[in-house]
Amino acid sequence: MDLALNEDQRSFAQLTREFLEREVVPHRAEWDRREQVDRALVGKMGELGLLGLTIPEEYGGIGGDLLTYALTMEELGRADSAARGIVSVSNGLVGTSIVNYGSEEQKQQWLPRIASGQSLGCFGLTEPDTGSDAANLRMRAVRDGDGYVLDGQKIFITNGTWADVALVFARTGGEGPKGVSAFLVPTDTPGFEAREIKGKLGLRGQATAELFLSGVRLPSSARLGDEGEGFKIAMSSLDKGRISVAAGCVGIVQGCLEATVAYAKERRQFGRPIASFQMVQDLIADMSVDADAARLLVWRAADLYVRGEAYGVAASKAKYFASEAAVRAANNAIQVYGGYGYVDEYPVQKYMRDARVMTLYEGTSQIQKLLIGRAETGVSAFL
Ligand SMILES: Cc1cc2nc3c(=O)[nH]c(=O)nc-3n(C[C@H](O)[C@H](O)[C@H](O)COP(=O)(O)OP(=O)(O)OC[C@H]3O[C@@H](n4cnc5c(N)ncnc54)[C@H](O)[C@@H]3O)c2cc1C
Repeated sequence: MDLALNEDQRSFAQLTREFLEREVVPHRAEWDRREQVDRALVGKMGELGLLGLTIPEEYGGIGGDLLTYALTMEELGRADSAARGIVSVSNGLVGTSIVNYGSEEQKQQWLPRIASGQSLGCFGLTEPDTGSDAANLRMRAVRDGDGYVLDGQKIFITNGTWADVALVFARTGGEGPKGVSAFLVPTDTPGFEAREIKGKLGLRGQATAELFLSGVRLPSSARLGDEGEGFKIAMSSLDKGRISVAAGCVGIVQGCLEATVAYAKERRQFGRPIASFQMVQDLIADMSVDADAARLLVWRAADLYVRGEAYGVAASKAKYFASEAAVRAANNAIQVYGGYGYVDEYPVQKYMRDARVMTLYEGTSQIQKLLIGRAETGVSAFL
């Protein structure tokens, strides 16, 4: 097994780091306080290629491999998970679904705009009464002449108020996963409304919204994939999305580690740097092992994907481990910072608040364990 990165992968990650150190790191605390990243960041990320990372070149993207994508998500997670989420959802969940399931017309319509940052996408699966149990979602899409009429509600939708296109999952058939279809809804369609959810614990710079669809009329050409294929599209996007979340979590662990080591060497108590105390090194050592272990799980999942092998369970393992590791690392980092870790002059309390959602979204830790348990035992605990 060759764990060495190639020149393209290394240089794109380096370019991304330099960009983020310049355009994001100096502003992240302020964006977090005012609960909004600077909108201009979207265009800048588009120019660098971050929003078209996995979109083929013929549609305006840079057609990077999944390991390059993971490395870039790690850099974004290290800098600011709010920015990482914008990219993961627009390019990862929405762009990739269009690449894999879109008609030529849908690809031409949306991919170049998503890749450049001219348009953002959001991914509307979760509803107020169906989170983990997404296969039972209630939003309806009823056939009407040559098209559909959509009615229902979505909640916790990243990029919701900023998006130009919403990939929305709605019920066209009977109960369960086979009754779900996917639709690309331009957000200026009459009857579509997005309301921002304020007061989040973390990811405060990111626009998270409730979506209300009331009599939204769409032509059949807005359906992504076949009727009844929606749940499959959602799950395949989320398998890949979990690699992205996991990679972002590696970035959180790495960011916590770097910040903590620097602080521990500088901060003195009892006449010595606190880095010289064994119990402080214990906390740092755990963070260091977590960073390596989480990164290797991410790379393994990305490598399986690149080689065309089954990668879903590997992605679940990476997402489960890395998200829990991010919470542990941020907690350790605050411990080493002492009281200074509790205020946002230093980055570690934001890492803690941002990390906390990682064990919840794109499948909670419990759901990842059920997926892993099903793979090990052959028995589904979902039924
Ligand atoms: C900031 C943020 C951004 C988000 N972005 C998006 C987005 O862009 N698009 C989108 O569609 N959704 C998004 N979500 C929603 C997210 O994916 C859901 O919150 C998540 O799937 C969990 O669903 P829930 O909140 O309804 O919790 P529930 O499903 O109600 O779960 C509550 C608890 O019960 C546990 N549980 C549930 N079922 C089982 C089971 N079978 N066995 C054991 N335990 C179980 C869960 O693990 C959890 O601990 C976002 C959420 C947040 C907070």
